[in-house]
Amino acid sequence: DILKLDMLVNTLENEHELDKNSLAELLECKDVPILYTAADRVRKKFVGDDVYLRGLIEFSNFCCRTCFYCGLRAANSGIKRYRMEPGEVIECAANAVKYGLKTIVLQSGEDKFFTVNDLCKIVDKIKDMGTAVTLSVGELSRNDYTALKHAGADRYLLRIETSNEKLYESLHPRMSYKNRVRCLYDLKELGYETGTGCLIGLPGQTPEMLAEDLLFFKKIDADMIGMGPFIPCKGTPLEYEAEGNVETVLKMMALARLLMPDINMPVTTALGVKADDGYRKGLGCGANVIMPNMGIDDYKKLYAIYPGKGDKVETLENQINVIKCLISKEGRVVGKHFGGRIRTVKI
Ligand code: SAM
Ligand code: SF4
Repeated sequence: DILKLDMLVNTLENEHELDKNSLAELLECKDVPILYTAADRVRKKFVGDDVYLRGLIEFSNFCCRTCFYCGLRAANSGIKRYRMEPGEVIECAANAVKYGLKTIVLQSGEDKFFTVNDLCKIVDKIKDMGTAVTLSVGELSRNDYTALKHAGADRYLLRIETSNEKLYESLHPRMSYKNRVRCLYDLKELGYETGTGCLIGLPGQTPEMLAEDLLFFKKIDADMIGMGPFIPCKGTPLEYEAEGNVETVLKMMALARLLMPDINMPVTTALGVKADDGYRKGLGCGANVIMPNMGIDDYKKLYAIYPGKGDKVETLENQINVIKCLISKEGRVVGKHFGGRIRTVKI
């Protein structure tokens, strides 16, 4: 009922805490504009109107893992594989800098062809351009994370995908939930700004599990949260499952902002692909980051995590212009700084 909904949203807005059952209840409510407007207020109060642009470079679609949901999984022989040359990665980064971007995100499948030393060299070169560097290359040893930090990497994205250990292990053959969590704690301890997040709408996932995901993000004190709908992908074991619900994604984003007011939160590409106006909606539900794809056009289509991605390959200039227009139309501004997490809430 409306009164209870009001009360829960109020508690969240003032205390930034809520128990699992109430979070799950909110996730089950239909259409909750008051949740979105509360998240938007909290976003404005704690991180302001800046929207940070991060230049994404998907430098390899080779992967040795077999995550059930992902089109890049090693067992999918239906996609063409590519690897960018280090020189190409550097060139893309330089291009992003030219467009004024202050963070470069390097993402790939878990491609063992690139040694940590190779990655360190690339990070080092990009750092010389004066940007922040975010890595998203999967699970590594603590030593490897340490080497990359020393090479200059500032941030790391590694989604927990689901904080439900059973569900996690059923979707990730030969991987372990415990190691995933170990990676996240290592990253935090080593001083990375650490991003995590989850897939929304995985088969077997319940509102309670999503509520637990939110509490998990808060517990590990994540600096960034990326969440998007699960999108079934051809050539994967989940090909014929239902896709994640966009409203649920928006509710999860709003709840994340209310629980963790000063984090950075992107509108994910998956949300952009699945929702009309996904970027605008995401920005209105607590998001303050957008990640334009600064890679090489021919490769964007091949980084086929899920269908629909890379369908509309636009010129970089167009892509950035469309994003900038949207930002100003929403009464927001493009962030001029690195856009690291600035803690304004005591923990
Ligand atoms: N290999 C690295 C990793 O797994 O952390 C980075 C690249 S991976 C492709 C980036 C993210 O894509 C994953 O964390 C996952 O949440 C997301 N993803 C994979 N398959 C997806 C799907 N079918 N629908 C939506 N998102 C998906
Ligand atoms: Fe590989 Fe990442 Fe896809 Fe898993 S989600 S198969 S690790 S690219």
